[in-house]
Amino acid sequence: MSPPRVDLATLPTPLTRMHRLEAALQTGPLYVKRDDLTGFGVAGNKARPLEYLMGAAVERGADVLVAAGSPSSNFCAAAALAAATVGLGCELLFPGAPPEPPSVNVELARVAGARVLFGVVQTREELDDAVIDHANALRAEGRRPYPLPRGGATAVGAIGYANAVRELSEQCDHAGIQVATVVVATGSGGTQAGLVAGRVGFGLTWQLVGASVSRPTQPLADQILRRSQDCAAILALDPPGTENVDLRDCRGAGFGVASRDDHVSGRLALRHEGLLLDNYYGAKAMTLFRSLLADGAPTPAVFWHTGGVAAALTALTQGA
Ligand SMILES: *Cc1c(COP(=O)(O)O)cnc(C)c1O
Repeated sequence: MSPPRVDLATLPTPLTRMHRLEAALQTGPLYVKRDDLTGFGVAGNKARPLEYLMGAAVERGADVLVAAGSPSSNFCAAAALAAATVGLGCELLFPGAPPEPPSVNVELARVAGARVLFGVVQTREELDDAVIDHANALRAEGRRPYPLPRGGATAVGAIGYANAVRELSEQCDHAGIQVATVVVATGSGGTQAGLVAGRVGFGLTWQLVGASVSRPTQPLADQILRRSQDCAAILALDPPGTENVDLRDCRGAGFGVASRDDHVSGRLALRHEGLLLDNYYGAKAMTLFRSLLADGAPTPAVFWHTGGVAAALTALTQGA
């Protein structure tokens, strides 16, 4: 039996050769998996997990989604849009005071009809517990909340990326590409958990490397492994092991703070391939991609573009 799902994303997303970046970096074949083009708001990678999270929420008879993140959170904006399209309420928790100038993603969520609550807690790390408390308070008022951890990183959400592995694999089979290396930006780890579950479960052999942009790698790698195992169990796939989670520390000076290398990465992607990368995720993952290639990572290699359009455009005018 397949898990309940609502249609949000336009799939498959393109898999495109990056000839000009290849020439610039002097490497073998490079490809980009265009999950910046999932076609639901500016959700990027969040559209795939939200299809299953909304499916589960609707099946469970929920009437309100509860989620949380930093003001830059693409997940919160995407969750607000997704909740609106399936007729659920949405309450979003953000840490501390509202940012000045306002964040595009928070305003997008508000316009989509979400109730936006600042200052319930002061730090990002406290948000997951705050979501549970808020859901309990709503339940006490007779509501039927569906609480989600940051990034929507649950085993159910990860199904979206387990399926994306099959999608990539079909595209590669069709085009005769034998992928050797895949790089993806990792925040909450939901995306990587799904990719790990799919890669092992569907028997793919490429090396998957995650660029951790916001959290220390050790606790996060453990969480990714557990979620990927739970996701594999839902899909009746073989469970991944520790050796299947390769996560590198790409935080640098902090979440959203780009190094000189990250600026070079963003510019390379834009000027050679017309790709918009943001400083939270995409630029840091591209820096890892370049450094792995420079160290001899085998090609063909795939850069999994996860989106981040809102932040990429905001950075142009706010110098973020
Ligand atoms: C959320 C996000 C990621 C990371 O995905 P996780 O599932 O949270 O690890 C990467 N890139 C962009 C643009 C995102 O919004």
